[in-house]
Amino acid sequence: MNRIKMTMMLAGLAVCAGCALEKEQGSAEAFPWVADRFGDVEVLRYQVPGFDSLTLSQKKLVYYLSQAALWGRDIQFDQHGRHNLAIRRTLEGVYAAYPGDREAPAFKALEEYLKKVWFAGGIHHHYSMDKFVPGFTQADFEAMVRATPADSLPGFPGGVDDLLSTLAPVMFDPAVDAKRVSLDHSRDLILSSANNFYEGVTEAEAEAFYRALAAGDGARPVSHGLNTKLVKQNGVVREIVWKSGGMYGPAIDKITGNLQLALAFAETPGQRQVIESLIDYYKTGDLKEFDAYNVHWVEEQQARVDFVNGFIEVYGDPLGLKGTWEAIVNFKDLDKTRRAEQLSAAAQWFEDHSPIDPSHKKKQVKGVSAKVITIAMLGGDCYPSSPVGINLPNADWIRKEHGSKSVTLDNIMYAHNQAALLKSSLGEFIYSEEELQRAKKFGAEARSLFVDMHECLGHGSGQLNPGVSSEALKNYASTLEEARADLFALYFMMDPKLQEMGLAPDPEMARASYDSEIRGGLMTQLVRVDYGQQLEEAHMRNRKLIAEWCLEQGADRRVIEKKQKEGKTYFVINDYERLRELFGRLLREVQRIKSEGDFEAGKQLVERYGVRIDSTLHREVLDRYARLDLAPYAGFVNPRMVPVLQDGAIVDIHLDYSQGYAEQMLEYSRNYSNLPLYN
Ligand code: ZN
Repeated sequence: MNRIKMTMMLAGLAVCAGCALEKEQGSAEAFPWVADRFGDVEVLRYQVPGFDSLTLSQKKLVYYLSQAALWGRDIQFDQHGRHNLAIRRTLEGVYAAYPGDREAPAFKALEEYLKKVWFAGGIHHHYSMDKFVPGFTQADFEAMVRATPADSLPGFPGGVDDLLSTLAPVMFDPAVDAKRVSLDHSRDLILSSANNFYEGVTEAEAEAFYRALAAGDGARPVSHGLNTKLVKQNGVVREIVWKSGGMYGPAIDKITGNLQLALAFAETPGQRQVIESLIDYYKTGDLKEFDAYNVHWVEEQQARVDFVNGFIEVYGDPLGLKGTWEAIVNFKDLDKTRRAEQLSAAAQWFEDHSPIDPSHKKKQVKGVSAKVITIAMLGGDCYPSSPVGINLPNADWIRKEHGSKSVTLDNIMYAHNQAALLKSSLGEFIYSEEELQRAKKFGAEARSLFVDMHECLGHGSGQLNPGVSSEALKNYASTLEEARADLFALYFMMDPKLQEMGLAPDPEMARASYDSEIRGGLMTQLVRVDYGQQLEEAHMRNRKLIAEWCLEQGADRRVIEKKQKEGKTYFVINDYERLRELFGRLLREVQRIKSEGDFEAGKQLVERYGVRIDSTLHREVLDRYARLDLAPYAGFVNPRMVPVLQDGAIVDIHLDYSQGYAEQMLEYSRNYSNLPLYN
């Protein structure tokens, strides 16, 4: 399957000049943008402008869809690791009821660890996938747990001793469950990954199982394995389905219950079908129903309110099969949608003028829809760390026959920019005053246009050769797919067509976007990687691959130049036109690799350019960044939706932005948690 539809927002964090700069005016201080800060994370608040302009019926629809979005939180924790719910509830129990010194360093460290676990949906970092190292000892942990009243702790069959002997090694032994998702191909990818998608099976057994299933595929294959756990019991490999009455059934029933309530407020017959088919899918676990839901979802274009809810993205599985549960609820920003529509309407022009081989082009680019949306609720794997752009569905055949929907999460991006405005991270990694001014003036606009092009045009472009499996690129597929979408956007950023369309009135916009891509790929994204580690995450590998390849291929003409100033390293673009040609050449090659399913070439490209980090440069970047005292990652708390009741009926819904991070997490654990400790 074709993957990676979420542009992780990290691309545009404080480290990315493009995103960090935003407008210079703006009321950054009027709203409490920052909710919390701990570890390498800053938690922000986002506003939901336009909510009050929705009709009461639309507000109720948003409300019930939001309830459905919050009920899947436990699923995500359990998918990320089988002990996560037990660990979270133990930590929450101690946090709430520990009678000892709450100012002691060990308790403070436990609080910070709990905040990290909440943020990541488990004990592994949401981005690096490495297990957190608690800032308190195992002895501290045992003492705090034993001092906490037992009725505040999750019940284990053998009591507290059982709890401690089960959980302590998982939390404290570095050798146990070290990585949530391992992409190190020299080891068994399943056995070396701590996620809860497989149990008792090896990578070879899982591949054989799904190869056998795929052998029966026709032209419209279901997404095998997307909503199941694969286990081996009594020597037999089989799937346990996530559905009502199956694994995660109690949470799924709450989700479908709220979808049922939402149904009464569907805006159009098409939207009614979307919700109904999703309910059917959750009830049966039938992946054909999931495809039906996706087809209805893509085709529904009229309603203002929209949502995503399900087992969707597969980054959490090294084999790229299992969907992690996620949800968002949103409504269309009518004004800002116009630009994305303009791009979508011209999709065929871009496809026809793309530098890829003609045989790899879609003869008809279908329904690449795009809109700018306002997020009203984030859930599951989209919370607290949220994407800034989404392109779904993932199934290739649906994309080909029915198109896809792209959205830009405008209020999330805006919150980022506003929070970044409060600091002033910028200049550190920018070489010249000219480049700095360009970033300040055009960075935000360029970033936003780039994300639209990546999502609306990039992912939807190109086609596979007949007979080529969409799974041919295996663990390199995600990185190459992101590279393809980025390169498509980069190549056309400098095209006169954008000027003609009135979207990029100043050529400096494209330059600002090129500056940001090269700077990010070669330097600034390294702040999010621990010293000594290599790149693992697909979006990061993609950016490194592009920048590194262009640096090498343009070396003879010094298209990109590495410079030193006052002991600091910078990368400077000398020739933007030639850089554009290089983007075009690489796009052609990456498209060829995808179209032909050339695994070896894809592997070479990623391994050679996208993985290894120069340790000297890495040290330097980390040191420079540390001096800025910024958080490399951001996430969000949701607004609280408060129904206004009159005689028991909802007459309005108010948004309350005052909730803090820990407060919200505790509320969600209290009110939206019904799964057993172990599923
Ligand atoms: Zn993408």
